[in-house]
Amino acid sequence: MEFISSDKGKRKLALNGFMYVRDKTKNGVTYWRCEDYLKCKSRVSTAEDDSLMRAPSEHSHPPNPARVIVARAKASMRDRAVKSDERTSNIIQSETKDISLATAGALPKKTSLQRMIQRKRSASMSQYSIRRFTDSSKRIKQEQGSNEIFIEQLNAGIAGPPRKK
Ligand SMILES: [Zn+2]
Repeated sequence: MEFISSDKGKRKLALNGFMYVRDKTKNGVTYWRCEDYLKCKSRVSTAEDDSLMRAPSEHSHPPNPARVIVARAKASMRDRAVKSDERTSNIIQSETKDISLATAGALPKKTSLQRMIQRKRSASMSQYSIRRFTDSSKRIKQEQGSNEIFIEQLNAGIAGPPRKK
């Protein structure tokens, strides 16, 4: 059993060549349903510590191990896109080099992997600049605040004017 993060950052569960998406969490138990839940009724549940609570019920279709391998490779690519400054082509190359020919057919086109990596990169960059912007405007506000207090004190005769050198 393995958890793989999706493109939207949600956790998916991979088990025996099947993938599950979270349905709900109730009293610490997470209920997962088959990724093909529109066609398949298979469900599985996990405990708070991520251990298996109830084994999956039967699927209406065969397992698809290639799908799991591709989901895992894509998750690693997204992770590296955000955490490293490696070249896009290096990330794709190194995450796909061990994928067998049989599985390679389930991989998205190289151009779409490139787009995914670049999209993740620019999203994390803009998150970073938003954080920096928020921090610096907070600092400016604090500085303005202490200036206003000083001016008030000055007007009230509490604080004297800054001494001249
Ligand atoms: Zn299924």
